[in-house]
Amino acid sequence: MANGKALTKYHASHTLFSMYYHVYLPVNLDTEFTYSSSQAIAEGCRVLVSFNRRDMIGICGQRVQDAPRGVRIREITEVLDSQPIIPQSLLELARWMASYYRNSIGICLFAMLPARLIPDPDMSIRSKEGISITDSQLADLLADGDWHIVQDLRKAHPRLPLLKMVEIAEQNDEIDVDRKLKHRDKPRYANFVSVIPDAVKPQSLPPRQSEAYTMLMASGGEMSMAALSSVVSYSVIKGLVGKGLVRIIPRRIDPPPVYEDYPFAPKNISLTSEQAMAVQSISQGYGKFEVNLLYGVTGSGKTEVYIHIMRRYLDDNKNIIFLIPEISLTPQMVERFSNEFGSILAINHSRLSDAERLRQWQLIQSGQKRIVVGARSAIFAPLPNLGLIVVDEEHEQSYKQENLPRYHGRDMAIVRAMQSGAQVIIGSATPALESWYNQLNDKYRYHRLTARPFAIAMPEVEVLDLREQETEGLLSHPLLEAIESRLREKQQVILFHNRRGYSSYLQCLKCGHTIKCPDCDVSMYYHRDTEELRCHYCGYGIPSPRKCPSCNAFSFSYGSAGTQKLEQNLKLLFPSARILRLDSDSARRQDAHKQMYKGMKNREIDILLGTQMISKGLDFPGVTLVGIVLADISLNVPDFRSAERTFQHLTQVAGRSGRGEWQGEVLIQTYNPHHYSIINAAKQDYEAFATIELSHRQQMYYPPFCRLGRLLYSSDNLEYIRERMEAFGSELGRLSSLKSLAGVIVLGPVPAPLPKLGSLYRFHLVVKAPNANVMRQAIDMILAALKLPSGIRLQIDIDPVSLM
Ligand code: ADP
Ligand code: ZN
Repeated sequence: MANGKALTKYHASHTLFSMYYHVYLPVNLDTEFTYSSSQAIAEGCRVLVSFNRRDMIGICGQRVQDAPRGVRIREITEVLDSQPIIPQSLLELARWMASYYRNSIGICLFAMLPARLIPDPDMSIRSKEGISITDSQLADLLADGDWHIVQDLRKAHPRLPLLKMVEIAEQNDEIDVDRKLKHRDKPRYANFVSVIPDAVKPQSLPPRQSEAYTMLMASGGEMSMAALSSVVSYSVIKGLVGKGLVRIIPRRIDPPPVYEDYPFAPKNISLTSEQAMAVQSISQGYGKFEVNLLYGVTGSGKTEVYIHIMRRYLDDNKNIIFLIPEISLTPQMVERFSNEFGSILAINHSRLSDAERLRQWQLIQSGQKRIVVGARSAIFAPLPNLGLIVVDEEHEQSYKQENLPRYHGRDMAIVRAMQSGAQVIIGSATPALESWYNQLNDKYRYHRLTARPFAIAMPEVEVLDLREQETEGLLSHPLLEAIESRLREKQQVILFHNRRGYSSYLQCLKCGHTIKCPDCDVSMYYHRDTEELRCHYCGYGIPSPRKCPSCNAFSFSYGSAGTQKLEQNLKLLFPSARILRLDSDSARRQDAHKQMYKGMKNREIDILLGTQMISKGLDFPGVTLVGIVLADISLNVPDFRSAERTFQHLTQVAGRSGRGEWQGEVLIQTYNPHHYSIINAAKQDYEAFATIELSHRQQMYYPPFCRLGRLLYSSDNLEYIRERMEAFGSELGRLSSLKSLAGVIVLGPVPAPLPKLGSLYRFHLVVKAPNANVMRQAIDMILAALKLPSGIRLQIDIDPVSLM
């Protein structure tokens, strides 16, 4: 693929330019440059160019027919690949993505690539002997006559315009410049010391050599140089080499695989008649682009339906991408899929090392891995011959990437499938209203599973009105009794509480002072395990104070209880129960998820307590009680999707109960027992919920009845940004072309619901438009009218999942 050596020197070459190309760079600018080269370059190859005086890796794009007029032309310094490293299908996808989400193509492409495929350009400079450097500051830096890495100099002197200084000095021939590329995609080799089999060991060896030799023999005749030389010195090993007893050989070392190997053990489950019907009707669209929505109540066995369809594609030599939210990428899921498909499966998730990510990419590209299971970025797997894409739990918010490029994994799946003629199945027990609406309008084909296999009943759900219940630290008596009876029966309990930490704030009992995040201006959560106050928006933390910083008093009251406090209460109330807490604090421990999975499966945990992290996908037959401690938390979030999210969480978590031979029970505690999200979640009635929610959305003109776009402006200077936003407001008011776009509504600029985050003040504009095309026109007009002042940052989010 790339040049053979791990370190390549490159030089600017000056030849007759004859060919012109677009080059996609990892910056969010549509570059006004065209690049020229003396050799023909295939689209999708990596090239080295200079951008803003820096050497940068870019991806070669389309050839431009003639020397373009009116754009600046720059030179391609080096071509790294003779064959495209990026498949045409991904280039096409990046183009769509760039235009829809309004990013540069480069930003989209580089988000797809494993980091190891992007070598580091590296420039070193030194003063030329006997020549003085005109720029006195640069002369000082290079006074010692040694080589200096430009990147290091830039870091050490961030205020100096070093790149410019270097460029000028190089033009004036005042410095030596050494350019290198550090490739990071080479297989790694390490030296091993290996005993030569037929060599005859002399009667006596010096003691150290003898020791080393014995150790080698004891390890089967070979050890890595690193291991051996940590025990004996290198000269001892050299001595053995000199006597012809051992030799040193380089061997390729691959990173260890991330997941343990599960045995190949397909389940060969026979489908229920409902499942068989779903498989059959989905199969009618076999082999062509089409989106299928599989609605199936929790525990109805959607996975079996997917697996049946997947087998048929595999038998036809077509390949598959299977997306699941990161949160559901549980050991349980991995085990199930590994059992079913064995070694053709690739797993892709955020915790892969760079080396592992690269290896997976190569195995996928070469066709050795035929199914890619992973979180949203798995949609960019370089899989040839794509036949099917499955998006499980398609409603999940985590499919949306919250930083650049802000794409939605489910929507990209549909686009990729459309571009490659693949079939799509999206599945959920609580479909996103956008997907449901498309199904109602026959854009998606609809299939459903209404029951659990065999005689397994849906759980019985009861709503407990917290206004009428006595509680012990948020746990009502009926819930406590239910927990106690499960413990007696040796059955398992899941308690769901969507607030982590110990308490939501710490307030001085004397003066009423609460401690707020200096950057975000919201109260900080108290975390008892680490004795810290932490901001749940930006992560800033301080040691929890012993006395009030404002009045020096020593007693505090605590805000609403989080999972840590609940855990403490449970331990006091049920001292002999085995309790595990799983939230993003405890999950930071390596293997936390795996431990939870094993503990639940082997019945070594009685009560599993956690945030939404435990609400998805888990399938433990021992769980017969699910308690939702406070259903109202997500209901009170000021977002048009809060009812939908509440319904989803409650329905999903309730679905964890009663998946085995015993009847399941669910208790929902709430202060809003009459809210339609809660009533319908209790009945597990998605359709009823969707009907009410759709009519609200229609009245309020929110998705799926419009598209949303959000322009978020931020600055560290409140006065300045407020002033600019007022000016924006009046300019928008004068923008008659915008008003003439039918169905377009622009809200704002107003302070965002989260007006300050990480020391930046935030204002936003929310754009509503009837479809993607009109959205594009509207945003074009807005951007043209509102020139971005310096000192203000703009982030554009198309189809945002959160307006905070
Ligand atoms: P969902 O994803 O729809 O919530 P799962 O696919 O996790 O449900 O299936 C729930 C459980 O039912 C799993 O343990 C699965 O193995 C089992 N199951 C599904 N279909 C069948 C079937 N036809 N026969 C036996 N067990 C099944
Ligand atoms: Zn903060």
